[in-house]
Amino acid sequence: MSPRPETLAMIERLIAFDTTSRHSNLELIEYVRNYLADLGVESELVYNEDQSKANLYATLGPDDRRGIALSGHTDVVPVDGQKWTSEPFEARKRNGRLYGRGTSDMKSFIAVCLALAPEFLKGSIRIPLHLAFSYDEEVGCLGVRSLIDRLSSREIKPEACIIGEPTMMKVVRAHKGKLSYRCEVSGLESHSGMAHLGVNAVEAAAEVIAHLKSMARRFRDNGPYDPELSPPYTTVHTGVVQGGTQLNIVPKSCVFDFEFRHLPEDDPTALLREIQDFAAGLLPEMHAVSVRTGFHWVRLSHIPGFDTGEDAEVVQLAKSLTGANTTAKVSFGTEAGLFEQGGMPAVVCGPGSIEQAHKPDEFITLDQVAQCEKFLLRLFRHCWK
Ligand SMILES: [Zn+2]
Repeated sequence: MSPRPETLAMIERLIAFDTTSRHSNLELIEYVRNYLADLGVESELVYNEDQSKANLYATLGPDDRRGIALSGHTDVVPVDGQKWTSEPFEARKRNGRLYGRGTSDMKSFIAVCLALAPEFLKGSIRIPLHLAFSYDEEVGCLGVRSLIDRLSSREIKPEACIIGEPTMMKVVRAHKGKLSYRCEVSGLESHSGMAHLGVNAVEAAAEVIAHLKSMARRFRDNGPYDPELSPPYTTVHTGVVQGGTQLNIVPKSCVFDFEFRHLPEDDPTALLREIQDFAAGLLPEMHAVSVRTGFHWVRLSHIPGFDTGEDAEVVQLAKSLTGANTTAKVSFGTEAGLFEQGGMPAVVCGPGSIEQAHKPDEFITLDQVAQCEKFLLRLFRHCWK
């Protein structure tokens, strides 16, 4: 199957905006706003603090009822240091594939929504569709939070959300949550020959990191397990450590970053509490030397997990639109948990493969784009009278 020319043209247009998360996405957003305005559709923009980025929210159809949100992020990951065969911000068609940064993750989904919008508007609409396009997803699902805050306080908000992250058009109804933290350990410097007069921040950090590792082993060996997730248990991992300056100095500071990727039903604050309680147990020994030593915890990011029930309406709907009779769970994070927390149950279902996301020579097959068109056209029929 090959996609419509207007869809391909829209993908090309969107890829050409370099919306790497560190840049503004406003050019793309203004383009989309103007495009929708030409169709008679008004957009609402929700800006970040310094007005350099925005979420876009627009309703296709009547705005006096709830409807279904189609959600996608407009930002992409950097191409820095990656070897691309062609210019990453110019979509190139080659061998049934379309190459370019964001083709899979996830501008093609947004492009299909936009390219088909005129067709949807021609019908007699019973259930409205809402376009919810966010920024800063790739740096911790940051942008969409202000949009969801605004929506969730409204009387009329979408009753469900379809997030078009690349799943090869499979219906994904759950993924893990992720909580990541930085721990800054303050010790006391001294000559290493007089180590008893100092508090070794690197060693204190090492003990806490070792406890994190013991938690990781416990979850691996004792569960709880969800066999549909991979791996089927909560993982704990320390990814960065920095501390000490020289071997003959007892180090006064050490900083490390760690994360929990937890089963959707796990309470991440309980995981954090366990490690903080463990660290608190080290304090008496540290404070005996200096009360100014200790641990400082800084949250880096939190992406809630989500688990929409198999029999939830939006899962049933997505299954009927794709023709699938099964659902899947994935190991990457999305904005789905945030929509769910805002009272909008979500599924993830979009064209392309996560295997291609974030890589050099990212591509999407034209067949996937066409499958996504088919999915949306079926959704339109569901939403028309
Ligand atoms: Zn994505």
